Amino acid sequence: MSPEQFSEAVLDWYDRHGRKDLPWQQGVTPYRVWVSEVMLQQTQVATVLDYFDRFMEALPTVEALAAAPEDEVLHLWTGLGYYSRARNLHKAAKRVVEAFDGEFPRDVEALAELPGIGRSTAGAIASLSMGLRAPILDGNVKRVLARYVAQDGYPGEPKVARQLWAIAERLTPERRVAHYTQAMMDLGATLCTRSRPLCLLCPVQTGCRAHLLGLETRYPWPKPRKELPQKRTLMPLLANREGAILLYRRPSSGLWGGLWSLPELDDLDALAPLASRHALQLGERRALPGLTHTFSHFQLAIEPWLVRVEGEVPAVVEGDWLWYNLATPPRLGLAAPVKKLLKRAEAELHQQPA
Ligand code: SF4
Repeated sequence: MSPEQFSEAVLDWYDRHGRKDLPWQQGVTPYRVWVSEVMLQQTQVATVLDYFDRFMEALPTVEALAAAPEDEVLHLWTGLGYYSRARNLHKAAKRVVEAFDGEFPRDVEALAELPGIGRSTAGAIASLSMGLRAPILDGNVKRVLARYVAQDGYPGEPKVARQLWAIAERLTPERRVAHYTQAMMDLGATLCTRSRPLCLLCPVQTGCRAHLLGLETRYPWPKPRKELPQKRTLMPLLANREGAILLYRRPSSGLWGGLWSLPELDDLDALAPLASRHALQLGERRALPGLTHTFSHFQLAIEPWLVRVEGEVPAVVEGDWLWYNLATPPRLGLAAPVKKLLKRAEAELHQQPA
């Protein structure tokens, strides 16, 4: 298919099946399109509908948004999530009012410099509300194009993104650009879906390489999984006769900052110094099933040991340490794997009371 045939097929499909009744398609202005595009960045159309209407009713113009208190903007956003979108919207509105006299710039690059507006959102505002020939490459369009050309590589990689942008640029027509943009977004949302594309209904099926290869769902390539480095640690659950476990509070910065955790040791030999530090007399010890916790930058293999503490222990421990009573747990912030390990220890202690 030539680029002209591609856009003709897409526009023809739009005339027959495209969505034309969405609220931001009525009384089109850059402001309405912009707000809808930002709302749609991480949210489905069905959810956005109500929010959009309420937002427009409360803040119908970019001047009204710029003048609104931030609390009001966040209130109107409540439930949509990703609140930085709302804060950026507010900032960008102020910029449009102050720097551009309330008129959105008719230029993709200038639009893309406003807070929270990337290249694709800028393209959508320019094409949908100003009729400028500007390509877009949101998640839906990326999927359609990556499949259409069977684009190898993860689209998050700059080289692959550049190739997809070049394809988007080449295929975007000179005329009816607003309809074309809407059609491409709709195509991705309704036909070229992530797991079950409806290729038989697709207007560009005859030119789609992924479809010809029978490999539709292989594109776009997913984010490559990084092999995370592994670390290991031994966590003793020192249990006193009342079944309370010794915890300490981690420093407020860093991993699990400010949360209560179990001591971390290199090996079992490090148990004795820990015990003597707290004047504890250690008894029986038993390995519990291991646990792996994944952080963004590494995986932590935890080797838990349940260790009995004999005799009396002081109720109050110095510094950032405490005996955590499993039967009447205090309201503390616990690291997730520590919570799991405390549950395991509780079950063990229940089975074999001291
Ligand atoms: S033919 Fe299938 S895979 Fe290709 S663009 Fe259309 S819906 Fe997507």
